[in-house]
Amino acid sequence: MADTMIEADGLFKSYGQTRALAGVSFSVPAGSVLGLLGPNGAGKTTAVRILTTLALPDAGQARVAGIDVLAYPAGVRRQIGVAAQDATLDGLLTGRQNLVLVGELSGMRTGRARTRAAELLELFELAGAADRVVKGYSGGMRRRLDLAASLLTRPPVLFLDEPTTGLDPVSRQRVWEVIRDLTGSGVTLLLTTQYLDEADALADRIVVVNHGQVIADGTPRELKERSRSAHVEVTLAEPRPEAAGVIAPLVGGRVSVSDHGLRLSAAVDSASGLATAVVRALDQAGMLVDNIEVRQPSLDDVFFALTGAQNSGDNNGSGAKGTSAGQGGPGAGAAERESQGAQA
Ligand code: ATP
Repeated sequence: MADTMIEADGLFKSYGQTRALAGVSFSVPAGSVLGLLGPNGAGKTTAVRILTTLALPDAGQARVAGIDVLAYPAGVRRQIGVAAQDATLDGLLTGRQNLVLVGELSGMRTGRARTRAAELLELFELAGAADRVVKGYSGGMRRRLDLAASLLTRPPVLFLDEPTTGLDPVSRQRVWEVIRDLTGSGVTLLLTTQYLDEADALADRIVVVNHGQVIADGTPRELKERSRSAHVEVTLAEPRPEAAGVIAPLVGGRVSVSDHGLRLSAAVDSASGLATAVVRALDQAGMLVDNIEVRQPSLDDVFFALTGAQNSGDNNGSGAKGTSAGQGGPGAGAAERESQGAQA
């Protein structure tokens, strides 16, 4: 087995005037999971399509399982399983028939394909629906069936393009478990996702793409460490437009203000003594603080910092370690669209 199972080397791809990839390179060591992260339109699917022989790059090279994707696409196809964003199932066949067909098309004998299909239907909790036609399946059931199809031939390299999009939380956890089992058994996996907690939970390394370029590469921990170390969030008792200006010198960075001006947040280098200093400064400026929270960075913070995307109010949850120094005021949990407030 090759040491590096997936290699993208300087991939370029344009669709008309749209540049989908502008020199993307990354590699995935055997038996590891790479999370390819990026906002909508970043180029993730295009990279996966090239690596899985479904699209040709304008320039650059790619190898999968040591095989040149451009020179020997058929050889690559024998080594990979792919669950694309658009499910490739036949709605008029049952779930079981779909899986058996995929197995047969991949060269499996019918008996083996049937046995493997039954195992996978069980694994993805579709056994009860196995003999119903797929057009009657929910979106989540189709997604799970599509994932099952990608595993049919037990390929050594798997590409899962946003595998849990559209799944309910229980199904999502189930898919995570299956992915963990797979990687424990030595499969090499490239996973695209927009869910940062998913990349955090499953990926050994993360490559962040934006506008067709790699903008960061590292383990989840390394990426968090590269970002500023903490985050402060203040909820005011009433909106005060001048509050961002009061806080800015203390946090030494950009202060975001929610639309209705009640919540302010900023990345900070050091959290020690910060809550006290912020509350004191606002108090001295005659502003009442309902709540202040200082927390360690989540992968969300890293992602938003890297991609320049605006943070949103409901990104506060995952993995946040909070130290609260306030009264837990109203509105602290409300989802708000944040807008840039002030630059230090
Ligand atoms: P998403 O998370 O929304 O799936 P993505 O990161 O997978 O996004 P891509 O699907 O690779 O992004 O798209 C990258 C860019 O290329 C986008 O601007 C997209 O509109 C464009 N693009 C992708 N495929 C095509 C196509 N077949 N024809 C024209 N433009 C395309």
